[in-house]
Amino acid sequence: MPKGTLREVKMEPSREMADRLDTVDELAPFRKEFNLPAGVVPLNGNSLGPLPAAVPGAVAEAVRQWGERLTRAWNEDWWHAPARVGDRIGRLIGAAPGQTMAGDSTSVQIFNAVVAAARLRPDRRVVVADAGNFPTDRYLTASAARLLGLEVVEVPMGDLPDAVDRHRDEVAVVFCPAADYRTGELWDVPAVTRVAHEAGAVALWDLSHGAGAVPLWVDDDGVDLAVGCTYKYLSGGPGSPAYGYVAARHQDRLDLPLTGWHGHARPFDMAGVFEPAPGVARARIGTPPVLSLLALEAALEPLERAGIEAVRAKTVRLGDFFLGCADRLLDGLGFEVVTPRDPRRRGGHLALRHPEAAAVMAALKDRGVLGDVRGDLLRFCVNGLYVSFGDVHDAVTALREVAATDEYRSPRFRRREVVT
Ligand SMILES: *Cc1c(COP(=O)(O)O)cnc(C)c1O
Repeated sequence: MPKGTLREVKMEPSREMADRLDTVDELAPFRKEFNLPAGVVPLNGNSLGPLPAAVPGAVAEAVRQWGERLTRAWNEDWWHAPARVGDRIGRLIGAAPGQTMAGDSTSVQIFNAVVAAARLRPDRRVVVADAGNFPTDRYLTASAARLLGLEVVEVPMGDLPDAVDRHRDEVAVVFCPAADYRTGELWDVPAVTRVAHEAGAVALWDLSHGAGAVPLWVDDDGVDLAVGCTYKYLSGGPGSPAYGYVAARHQDRLDLPLTGWHGHARPFDMAGVFEPAPGVARARIGTPPVLSLLALEAALEPLERAGIEAVRAKTVRLGDFFLGCADRLLDGLGFEVVTPRDPRRRGGHLALRHPEAAAVMAALKDRGVLGDVRGDLLRFCVNGLYVSFGDVHDAVTALREVAATDEYRSPRFRRREVVT
């Protein structure tokens, strides 16, 4: 059967078209590898990826190891898990083995990476960073700058090359996200990395909205350091450990601020002075969250098998279909598409602006359509690994119904949730 795409199939975006696209979708079988409750349209995988069917068994096995093997499990499996899982994530971001370490939270990894990046350029005192980056990245950069006596210059991504140029001889670090967490706009990792390098700066990337959503090539692009979370596109589960990438050329000079005992050259010598382990092992900190780490390891498997290129290609088609449905069904209802229409400039989610975004999303969730809200933006993640064209059509149809009938104005949808 020919592969159906929006461009090939000349039909109005409709339920029939969604069904036809799902029938020819080669990734459709992967949906069964996630535990998706009936009646749920899972479009919030950019916030928390759904539960991979393999994870409960992997967690049970980790708990069995804990119960039966006790500390022996450290030698048998657990000690090497951060590097092993790190290398598997590395493959998804274009990193050769031995450069990616899993463990600790994204925020911890960010702090570690910002300080270490600045220490690679001790004679410089400016950090140029995306003003639209996720708040924790901005807060931690500001705190690291206070500690080190650096100045942070925050600018929108579009102005970043000029800002780097203005501070040419002073820029130590350029710190950006792979994609905008609100609008889903994808940034140009190789081009921005080149801008940083031309000014003599270190390029640090937050790949939280990139890894698992789009193919990345950190080695080929010359990225120096990177961090990322794993509970979004990698479905690692709530609080699953983040990762740090350190290009091989920097490893033996890298002076990380969080010098925990697991990063010591000989951790069991219990030496009084920290001596960093060779290679990326120095990026370990303390005892990692082993249960979460082993859950994450199992979660990676469906994505690895599907292949990030295939997932990305379907995500692009889902995004095109979403926009086609939105143009047809949401016209005149107060929505504005804020994600670029050019698929090369889109990450894994789409965002619509609406003045009553929170109430609209509350009404959608009531119908089982799960997206989320950031300010006045409704976000919908179209992860090609498990989202179907039917899901997209259901979501946009629900949006139409909720907005066209003023259902969202019901007092029931006015309360503020702690987490959306
Ligand atoms: C999701 C996300 C985080 C989350 O940080 P945590 O420490 O895991 O809460 C940080 N930065 C970016 C860019 C993100 O997308």
